[in-house]
Amino acid sequence: MKKGRIFSGMQPSGKFHLGNYLGALENWVRLQHDYECFFCIVDWHALTSSYEDTRRLPEHIHDMALDWLSGGLDPEKNVIFVQSHVKEHAELHLLLSMITPLSWLERVPTYKDKLQQLGAQGKEINTYGFLGYPELMTADIILYKADTVPVGEDQLPHLELCREIVRRFNHLYGEVFPEPQAKLSQAPLLPGIDGRKMSKSYGNEIPFAASPEDLRARVRLMVTDPQRVKKTDPGNPDVCTVHTFHKIFSRDELDEIVMSCRNAAIGCVDCKKRLAERMVSALADIHVRRAELEANPGRVREILAYGAERARQVAAATMEEVRQVMHLS
Ligand code: SF4
Repeated sequence: MKKGRIFSGMQPSGKFHLGNYLGALENWVRLQHDYECFFCIVDWHALTSSYEDTRRLPEHIHDMALDWLSGGLDPEKNVIFVQSHVKEHAELHLLLSMITPLSWLERVPTYKDKLQQLGAQGKEINTYGFLGYPELMTADIILYKADTVPVGEDQLPHLELCREIVRRFNHLYGEVFPEPQAKLSQAPLLPGIDGRKMSKSYGNEIPFAASPEDLRARVRLMVTDPQRVKKTDPGNPDVCTVHTFHKIFSRDELDEIVMSCRNAAIGCVDCKKRLAERMVSALADIHVRRAELEANPGRVREILAYGAERARQVAAATMEEVRQVMHLS
């Protein structure tokens, strides 16, 4: 018996790094056992802030699907699909836009912040699409009558807006949609190999698709305790990036590693080697699944087509109901 229905999406913006995997995908992989899940590659959302050059969008969608599947999402257990393959998202978005006061969208805290931040990067995003982002997100969620949405704390205002829109719709036309509840996820924050936030723009990321050799090479480059110059110097794991990774990948031997570092019983080279082997073995299944999918390039396309078909059935039934209560049939 499933606990409920989940909708969650990600924008296709290029290949995953390990931080993306541990930050979101790993959580989805756990949730798929307990919930009926709709996982959506939200390509229209990607256009709300990056609409100028769309040439690489198909490649990014394919890469994202490959990352999800190799990460362990089961295409039979879950509905995995691309947003623009199910046109009902656009129809519901349009109808919801009729009943949503502009002020509700303008007061979303992240709206003005992002407008400023992206504007400073030279992006012209003073557009309806950018303002309407949470409206489209609402349509995505309620189209499947999802009752649960996994979110980080920063996305709570979006979900609150979604719930307000649902209440307004139900009040105007009758009870059609459940009010989705937030399922807060606490993801471990993974630094890049230089100790700053992991980001492709800093060039400090560990690609999710990294081969074992690449993983080992990147771990070798990780910054450690800068005060530890010689192997005989006691180290301070609290300021060491390698230690942050050990906390995730070597939990069962963490105490011993910390003690050995503080007592100078282990050198940084050996400590990194231990981490690299832990990471290689933790990600081994992912590498196998990725290799299988890469050997069969049509498979990802088939899975997305199958997912879109299943999503469309649910979306069509919801829209039938919506049109009826709005007297649009
Ligand atoms: Fe970091 Fe390990 Fe070196 Fe200690 S021994 S400073 S935890 S790499």
